Amino acid sequence: MIMKLDQLATPALVLDRRRLLRNTRAMSERARRAGVDLRPHLKTAKSARVAELATQGHSGGITVSTLAEAEYFVAHGIVDITYAVCMVPDKLERAAQLAARGARLTLLTDNAAVARELGDRAAALGARFDVLIEIDSGEHRTGVAWDSDHLLAIARALDQSSHLALAGVLTHAGQSYACESIAEIARVAEVERRDVVGAAARLRGAGFSCDTVSAGSTPTAVHAESFAGLTEIRPGVYTFFDLAQVARRCCTPDDVAISVLATVISHQPEHRRLIIDAGGLALSKDTSAATVLPDTGYGWICDLGTCQRIGDLHVAVADQEHGYVTGGNIPYAELPIGSRVRVLPNHACMTAAAYDSYAVIDSAEDPLEIVEWWDRVNGWLNASNKGMP
Ligand code: PLP
Repeated sequence: MIMKLDQLATPALVLDRRRLLRNTRAMSERARRAGVDLRPHLKTAKSARVAELATQGHSGGITVSTLAEAEYFVAHGIVDITYAVCMVPDKLERAAQLAARGARLTLLTDNAAVARELGDRAAALGARFDVLIEIDSGEHRTGVAWDSDHLLAIARALDQSSHLALAGVLTHAGQSYACESIAEIARVAEVERRDVVGAAARLRGAGFSCDTVSAGSTPTAVHAESFAGLTEIRPGVYTFFDLAQVARRCCTPDDVAISVLATVISHQPEHRRLIIDAGGLALSKDTSAATVLPDTGYGWICDLGTCQRIGDLHVAVADQEHGYVTGGNIPYAELPIGSRVRVLPNHACMTAAAYDSYAVIDSAEDPLEIVEWWDRVNGWLNASNKGMP
């Protein structure tokens, strides 16, 4: 049975396949021209169908942010996976189970003592892993400085393990999100590149092998002027884009591939607003675009069919299940109670996390028709590992 967006229960997560394909092809072409592999970060989409499209023409490897994602992708036949969050020994058994199922899981560390413990645990489990050393290229979240003594200490710890192999270095310049101009992002991209390439050179100079030199965020992947010395890039949110990326001039609103379908549930002209059934749980409370884009709040209100913004309407306040829509001129007659709108999200990764599937449309064809449903994986555990770290 053909279902249309105006028949769907709301709130729901809509994915425009046309925009998605345009985004994945553009990044793929950028990586191909630069001569680097594209290892997309699937923390945004958490979807095997998106992974298939995003890896086309590249090695087929992906990046994930949780072991639940890794388990889901292995179940869907995607086995070359970098788990790009620092590993701790307690999680190794779960990783070993994935390796036993055929996964080539590459781990991450930023600590020599932990690397030694990971080596002991891997030996006890009879599992072998490739490990990347995380480089802090300015975000100051995790990682070690490219020129610190820790870098070589971690390499030595990995080298001493018969069950771990040093695969290379990885960095993520998340500080690119604090930039307000393209020139600033390009400067951060160059620091990201220079630091991780510098770390690789130090390791090689000390006699270690360093096959992988991995960098990436969406802003730096879009605005970098050079990828020299890198072997791969790992952007993720570029698959969908969002208003935070519009704010950083990484895309235009017409590139944003996901939106939240919502219903107008009340008119409040005396308070100069209307209310939709998408609040903080349906949109997330992330307002990262609003610091740069005025009148953004928790998302832009767009037309159901065209997905073009309606005036300057936006969700200014988000209760759990209520979104308070304001703007200069609210066209109540065009948006009667019961009508539907689409909300362009502030931060796609956070918004999508509330949904277990995508209602896929194709705006190149009938923009209202749901052509497919794609699943996604959420959370941190699955049915078989409840209670396991
Ligand atoms: N690599 C790592 C380690 C990350 O943490 C992230 C995002 O948080 C990415 C890559 C992808 O960056 P983005 O979300 O800007 O596409």
